[in-house]
Amino acid sequence: MIFSMENCIKKYFITTYGCQMNLHESEKIAGILTSLGYEEANSEVDADIIVFNTCCIRENAEDRAEGNIGALKQLKRKKKDLIIAVGGCMTQQPGFANELHQKFPFIDIIFGTHNLEDFANLLKRKLSSKKKIIDVLEKEGPIKEGTPKTRTSYPNAWVNITYGCNNFCTYCIVPYVRGRERSRKLEDVVNECKSLIKEGYKEITLLGQNVNSYGNDLKDTDFATLIREVSKIKGKFRLKFMTNHPKDFTEKLIIAISESDKVCHTVHLPVQAGSDRILKLMNRKYTRNDYFEKINLLRKYIPDVAITTDIMVGFPTETEEDFLDTVDLVEKVGFSGAFTFIYSKRDGTPAAKMDGQIDEEVSKRRIMKLIELQNSTNRKQSEEYLNKTIEILCEGFDEKKNMYLGRDTHGRMAYFSSQEDMIGQFVFVKILKTGGMSLMGELVR
Ligand code: SF4
Repeated sequence: MIFSMENCIKKYFITTYGCQMNLHESEKIAGILTSLGYEEANSEVDADIIVFNTCCIRENAEDRAEGNIGALKQLKRKKKDLIIAVGGCMTQQPGFANELHQKFPFIDIIFGTHNLEDFANLLKRKLSSKKKIIDVLEKEGPIKEGTPKTRTSYPNAWVNITYGCNNFCTYCIVPYVRGRERSRKLEDVVNECKSLIKEGYKEITLLGQNVNSYGNDLKDTDFATLIREVSKIKGKFRLKFMTNHPKDFTEKLIIAISESDKVCHTVHLPVQAGSDRILKLMNRKYTRNDYFEKINLLRKYIPDVAITTDIMVGFPTETEEDFLDTVDLVEKVGFSGAFTFIYSKRDGTPAAKMDGQIDEEVSKRRIMKLIELQNSTNRKQSEEYLNKTIEILCEGFDEKKNMYLGRDTHGRMAYFSSQEDMIGQFVFVKILKTGGMSLMGELVR
């Protein structure tokens, strides 16, 4: 029998749920597996190891993950050596790892958010002992540097700057599953960014649950300083960051953004609600007036800034009047984009114990109203682009439209045709057609 090298190469398949933070963590798991000699598989059926990197921020992400894990039972039965690993926020919830093990005894490795970077050892333990590994650390440890990464989002590269969160918004499970906020050292972040630019990345997105409080646990540094230092790196690239918290979004930071030639003129500033009563119940630590003040400051220093937000409807006890305060705020600010959500009850959070949970039909009606309002703002803002020429960073190719796509400094998506591969290039596009959030145009040489 002849064995080709191909037969010897082990393959991995990773499914990620949730936010950019999780996508980047999956890049770390992929990096670790690559360093162990694994290659990416095209599908679960071809894989020797399948990893689920889960999210527990909303109930539907958990349900989807459990559904997808359950669907592997047959495959595992046929392929005895297949390794199935489940980690991330979902498994980090108290008692959840054991529940998962009971429900799906065919899972080989269950790990949490605090030992994700130790995945190589978890896998080695599994391979050498053949036993199930359930290893979820209760507490976060010090930040680990040097974890390999197999990046998947060229021309963008994600860079963690903080881990964990100290804010304890009453609806949010993150502080319980990601631990207290820890900042990476400024020089480690800057050095990683320098290497990425050298490797040819054209956009860096700094990541943290609340990037604005970067450095609170370090001496003599803060997020404004970090922005200035990364902006000094030579070369043409864009700098983005997420996510922000209005209470920590300072004038000093706004000035640093306005003075950088790298930072994109788009800021994601999650407001969550427009009613002071609800903001207080959410423990957001700002009022609607504080929020308006931040918006005014942003527009004073960066007149063309595009502001996007997150809005939640149906928080416990939200009245029609509270909701109308949110509608009013959305109308007054004129956001360039809004991620709208219906409140999702998370066990273990203070909001889950609050009286006055809102009927789903009421929440659905409220979210539809907000979506309509935001869509009409998007359409109006898109129309202003007509016949203008904008610089975009080409980030991909849309097979369905048969066109390249990219974003301008305000985060607005534009499509264009080209015979040449344009991914990773800054190009000028004249906008000829608009629709909703996206724009269509032609390449201008
Ligand atoms: S700032 Fe609030 S919403 Fe954001 S991760 Fe922290 S607790 Fe959750």
